[in-house]
Amino acid sequence: MANGRARKVSLVGTGLVGSSFAYALMIRGLASELVLIDVNTEKAVGEMMDFNHGLSFTRPMHIHSGTYADCAGSHVVVIAAGASQKPGETRLDLLARNAAIFRQIVPQVARANPDGIILIATNPVDILTFVSLGVSGLPPSHVIGSGTILDTSRFRFLLGSYYGVDARSVHAYIIGEHGDSEIPVWSHASIGGVRLQEFAPLKSKEYVQSDMDALFVQVRDAAYEIIKRKGSTYYAIGLGLLSIVEAILGDYRRVMSVSTLMTGQHGVDGMCLSLPCVVGADGVEEILALNLDPTEESGFRASAEKLKSTLRSLAAG
Ligand code: NAD
Repeated sequence: MANGRARKVSLVGTGLVGSSFAYALMIRGLASELVLIDVNTEKAVGEMMDFNHGLSFTRPMHIHSGTYADCAGSHVVVIAAGASQKPGETRLDLLARNAAIFRQIVPQVARANPDGIILIATNPVDILTFVSLGVSGLPPSHVIGSGTILDTSRFRFLLGSYYGVDARSVHAYIIGEHGDSEIPVWSHASIGGVRLQEFAPLKSKEYVQSDMDALFVQVRDAAYEIIKRKGSTYYAIGLGLLSIVEAILGDYRRVMSVSTLMTGQHGVDGMCLSLPCVVGADGVEEILALNLDPTEESGFRASAEKLKSTLRSLAAG
């Protein structure tokens, strides 16, 4: 477990996602030191000043801007750095630019902090987690993508609202790609340990599969809906990143859906994507083997194939 008095976190990319995470980290009082790194050094310094001016309202914390060398000794380095899409640019062009940025950032982080954990949020998060694993030289357990942590949270919120219970009492996962090919695991969805189909009658409700299908579409397309209205999403993923960092710093061994290297799970290997994992001080400590139904299983494989095909296009480009 990280020493309670010295919990160091570094953040690369102090844009909307990165600074939302940092703000949540500060309010939660989890870390004793936070290093802010950005190619736009003025942005990192500006965020540092703004955070520091709130320190009289939170727990003490040493917040400073820095360089990759300053990542040394971090328990976790969160990477939310990325280029944004230029007009006329394809998703693949954007991926190529972000992959190039990661090939430059990640080796510097790993060199400065070879024993720490890297947590990636930048999209496409599964591909960039896989690229980072390759260029970091770190063990797979130490290179984590935020994966479907956010999608799972959206799923739990919407199910909780539908059934009138706290989202934290809902156990349900979104697995696979963080993106259009993600899969809802209906076969294991439960509320307070009661399977959804059985929970509905307890609430004098019918279980209506078409309602559930519509609810999943809301989960899958949530980012599009938010981006249409406010340009980008950042608060909820900031909290999702906080939850993963909290599990690592506290060695909580919390089960969460994050992106990690598959080694044969459901017939998939050689790609990072999300399944429920046990997350603790050593990063991804276990990947849970779910007993998926045939539709979920084939959906998971198709999601992995889609990601592999994108990776091949990247390599060919
Ligand atoms: P943003 O444009 O606000 O911030 C990006 C930051 O990265 C900027 O401060 C920029 O200066 C910095 N940066 C760019 N190149 C860099 C480099 N080479 N080295 C260091 N810093 C660099 O973007 P944002 O809204 O914060 O989003 C960041 C990423 O997070 C995007 O890829 C976005 O798609 C992704 N995202 C992921 C999830 C998720 O669930 N994983 C959710 C929302 C957003």
